[in-house]
Amino acid sequence: MISIKNSRELAGMRDACRISAMALQFAGESIRIGMTTGELDKMIRHFIEKQGATPSFLGYGGFPASACLSVNETVIHGIPGKRILHEGDIISVDVGAYYHGFHGDNAATFAVGTISDEAQKLLDATEESLYKGIEQAVVGNRVGDIGHAVQTYVEDRGYSVVRQYVGHGVGTNLHEDPSIPNFGTPGRGQRLLPGMTIAIEPMINCGTHEVEVMPDEWTVLTKDRKLSAHFEHTVAITPDGPVILTRP
Ligand code: MG
Repeated sequence: MISIKNSRELAGMRDACRISAMALQFAGESIRIGMTTGELDKMIRHFIEKQGATPSFLGYGGFPASACLSVNETVIHGIPGKRILHEGDIISVDVGAYYHGFHGDNAATFAVGTISDEAQKLLDATEESLYKGIEQAVVGNRVGDIGHAVQTYVEDRGYSVVRQYVGHGVGTNLHEDPSIPNFGTPGRGQRLLPGMTIAIEPMINCGTHEVEVMPDEWTVLTKDRKLSAHFEHTVAITPDGPVILTRP
């Protein structure tokens, strides 16, 4: 079921999303060569709790940490742990905060030190594709318009769109209807209505779009082990156009 938020609920979403965005920014600023993903996760958890919020992902479906930290060929759902960050790595941080009954959700891929041109170009294209998708998040458009915009932008540049994982509605639950694929046909799918809040989150690969889930049942890798990037915002559909709620 799709939930339409009234102005009070949208204000609640704004607060949760602002904390989520601050946590993501904090994570990006905290990344250091030589640290483990487990250390970074602890810092993120502490930051969110300091704001009086709860990490949305902690315990969600049994997820054992506060943020999904996905390095290089890891697409999403990387479990923080002993992996050490090396110069030249890229790390996707996906983090949400639950605050006064609402969830925010956002993600970004960060460089660890100096990265290759190939990696930088992937990050730039993925981030830009998110904004191409957000531009289409307007009343009267359909979910397929968002996906088509993301897909066209990245495929024109030689990248591929992950199919198995998609964006989603977000609100009192972390994952709500409708699904927001990063691929699609213009004019198809659920119509976008004022008061919907959705997480748009392109997951973009350098090589094949195919992915593999590791035996831990969380970690998602690219099948060819080439690089993957992930950017996400929570966006409100309003009569005045899309409003990005996850801005610090
Ligand atoms: Mg999400």
